[in-house]
Amino acid sequence: MAGSERAVPGPVSRAWNERARRVIPGGVDSPVRAYRAVGGEPVVIARGAGARVVDVDGNEYLDFVMSWGPLVLGHAHPKVVAAVREAAGRGLTFGAPCPAEAELAERVVAAYPGLEQVRFVSSGTEATMSAIRLARGATGRDLVVKFSGCYHGHADHLLVAAGSGLATFGHPSSAGVPEAFASRTLVLPLDDEGAVRDLFAARGHEIAAVIVEPLPANHGLLPQRREFLAALREETSRRGALLVFDEVITGFRLGPGGAAERLGIVPDLATFGKVIGGGMPVGAFGGRRDVMRHLAPEGPVYQAGTLSGNPVAMAAGLATLRILEEEDGWSRLEALGGALEERLAPVLGAARPGIRLVRAGSLFWFDLGGGERPPRRAEEIPGEVSARYAGIFRALLLRGVMLAPSALEVGFLSLAHRETDLDLLAEALAAAIEEAEGTGRQNR
Ligand SMILES: *Cc1c(COP(=O)(O)O)cnc(C)c1O
Repeated sequence: MAGSERAVPGPVSRAWNERARRVIPGGVDSPVRAYRAVGGEPVVIARGAGARVVDVDGNEYLDFVMSWGPLVLGHAHPKVVAAVREAAGRGLTFGAPCPAEAELAERVVAAYPGLEQVRFVSSGTEATMSAIRLARGATGRDLVVKFSGCYHGHADHLLVAAGSGLATFGHPSSAGVPEAFASRTLVLPLDDEGAVRDLFAARGHEIAAVIVEPLPANHGLLPQRREFLAALREETSRRGALLVFDEVITGFRLGPGGAAERLGIVPDLATFGKVIGGGMPVGAFGGRRDVMRHLAPEGPVYQAGTLSGNPVAMAAGLATLRILEEEDGWSRLEALGGALEERLAPVLGAARPGIRLVRAGSLFWFDLGGGERPPRRAEEIPGEVSARYAGIFRALLLRGVMLAPSALEVGFLSLAHRETDLDLLAEALAAAIEEAEGTGRQNR
């Protein structure tokens, strides 16, 4: 750790980036990894253990990215690694049912409110894509409602953002998504139950599903008022549409029952990913039996996967959920989140009115927008936060602290983080802000 003199990324990282860029677009397999939002180029990771990663130049970092969410126990947890090794020794994949699928499904069903059945896939994107197809198949309706600022993976129908105005038809937020697909997705702002009620009054009979991150965590961290989410439950129930909670980031992180349990709101369908795979590629979607029975082979909605329910991935997920349960993981994560708030209060707060810590459980985000209260809508986050964040991000990286390379991404605590790590973060953050912005200067 420490020492802000080192070169980051170092020469070995740079060499690997150059090799990768020749044969992989942008040198990365997921765009935000390329550091475009913060400038420079990524450090290339050689290994990780607990709360720390080491890059190919030998620099160590205290990690708050944690692979963007899955690593709730930290990197290379010995029991998870042992479970993976053991499963791998018995065979990597069979394309036939294996016991671990039923075991993990039993755990997920027992833990999550209202869930009776679940199907495994290999990513969060697949989970939401399949849940939407199922909702359309089960209701016989086409329209899907999503909210601006919520991310549901990169399936065509969900890679859609609003134009200006309320209840706009979606426009593709990516080249390659046909307008015709996007037009089947309606986009509303978060935090506005009036807009939801108006839309349902006008078109409720055409709406198959409303999909929402019950705790939006992919465009900043935007905790919602319970009344807003309750209105979604009410309107969908009244008009025969399905409510889909996308808990890919929150599922088994906020608690065994995800955000649904915290809110006391039971969705019709829920999607999972990240934590339930324990670092291996796993996603899942589930719901009530009467909805899930529409899926093939029982029903007409097709959905499949060569590696779905993969035995090695299932073993990693099972080991992770077992450990969380046995070691009182969720209350420890909550306590760690509380400790983070305490440690950062003297660094931010009154000392830096323009920077606010927003936290929910083990998820946290630095709100640089300078608003009077934490934002609840994507549109409330000013564009200027990006440049400001970039300076702080780089200064932290030089000090051996790794945050996500974008102002809009959240940070993750894990059971591997110690309170002393939070002290290190607080110290590094104070110094990084100082370096990036100068003493006493407050940008807004
Ligand atoms: C990460 C995420 C996804 C996409 O999952 P992938 O495994 O990256 O495909 C979908 N929804 C939410 C809420 C997510 O956080």
